[in-house]
Amino acid sequence: MPHDKPPINETASEPVTQPAVPPGARPAIGEPASSGSWFARWHGIPLYLRILAGVVLGVAVGLALGHRAEPLIVPSRLILRMLTALAAPLVLVAVLHALMNARLPQGSAWRLVRLLLINTSVAILIGIAVANVIQPGRWTSLPVPAATQTERDPGAVIDQILDNIPDSLVTPFVENRITSVIIIAVAFGLALRKLRAAGDAKLGAAGDLIEVAFLTLIKVLHWIIELIPLAVFGVVASIIGREGFGALLGLGMFLIAVLVALSLQLVYYLLRIRFCSWVKPLEALRGMRDALVMAFSTASSTITMPVTYACLREKVGVRERSASLGALIGANFNNDGTALYQAMAALFIAQAIPGHDLSMTQQVIVVLTAIVASMGATGIPEAGIVTLTLIFQAVGLPIEYIPILLTVDWFLDRCRTTANVMGDVNVSCLLDGCEREPPHPPTLEDRELSDIA
Ligand code: ASP
Repeated sequence: MPHDKPPINETASEPVTQPAVPPGARPAIGEPASSGSWFARWHGIPLYLRILAGVVLGVAVGLALGHRAEPLIVPSRLILRMLTALAAPLVLVAVLHALMNARLPQGSAWRLVRLLLINTSVAILIGIAVANVIQPGRWTSLPVPAATQTERDPGAVIDQILDNIPDSLVTPFVENRITSVIIIAVAFGLALRKLRAAGDAKLGAAGDLIEVAFLTLIKVLHWIIELIPLAVFGVVASIIGREGFGALLGLGMFLIAVLVALSLQLVYYLLRIRFCSWVKPLEALRGMRDALVMAFSTASSTITMPVTYACLREKVGVRERSASLGALIGANFNNDGTALYQAMAALFIAQAIPGHDLSMTQQVIVVLTAIVASMGATGIPEAGIVTLTLIFQAVGLPIEYIPILLTVDWFLDRCRTTANVMGDVNVSCLLDGCEREPPHPPTLEDRELSDIA
């Protein structure tokens, strides 16, 4: 079975069996503890439980220390710096990797791109609409940062869009301009693809290099993710110390708002499947149960990818080509749940800072950058947080508020990953059209897949 991304081990509580995964290719997080040391035992606890422990401890320390807990925010700032440092190289290597390995049947590329763009735009619009109606940021108040940009005039907005076209191959990496990095990555990825298609033998080594770079970056990212419980502890202690429970109320409202928006996105998917494909929506949900539960428990659409593919083929019954396009290729770029979340996160923080509401123009910029940022997000836990800086910077929001979101991100990451997988299912069903594939005697691949599913 083809697969486009190397698998990544999970952060979650449930062990995952992946038949389609080459052994040894996994940079692992949550590796089983090898010794009985204190650290090994802490490391052996699932990440989400460690984050929850960070929240509880943060509340206790914040209440006990009051304003004196404010400096505890420092570790989260440091962790954000490290995540930001990884953003540009990770996006570059992930896009190169996906473009080099994706198998696109002739003529299907534009149809796929169109479907991906429509779905992602709908997701972001739903997110923005819900954030504007529920206004979760109004339930809390963040201090106005010392220096932030206010609204730019339309001419400046056009300049800002033009600024994203790289004028150097190096500066975007130095300045962490993610949109420019994506443009460079797409150009070089397509060039590598063409050379590989022309049978250039040297391309094997380039492919290996990209693969190694990708796995190494993911490994480093996982080390940083291991520090998230500490960041959450510091953020919660500092916020509770400064503002009491009011801030957590705002985060609770944000959580509810994201869940409402993701549910609306699910309804949109099911309606599209109902009216634009032969698949019955409830049967699609039933057939995809394993993949959806796996997405929620691992918070990684990449880990879930082989199971998504197998369920689509064996349980839902879409054609091989549609399942490959939707689940294997789409999964690399199709992150609707992430896009919806990122747009809502920007609006939430803007609403929470007095006098910082985003204007219409800024919300349009959020839509455009969220499309780009979600495409650059890899299908691994917390990847959405790494590319979130792109949106914040685009509309002049202070990125130092991003760590606050880590408090609820362990849960929302799982929810948006499930939506990401459902997006892949949606694309596969729509690509499969209104007529079911005629039955055929099972092939060897089909028999292997039924074992996986
Ligand atoms: N965890 C998500 C996924 O695997 C990506 C994200 O962080 O939004 O699809």
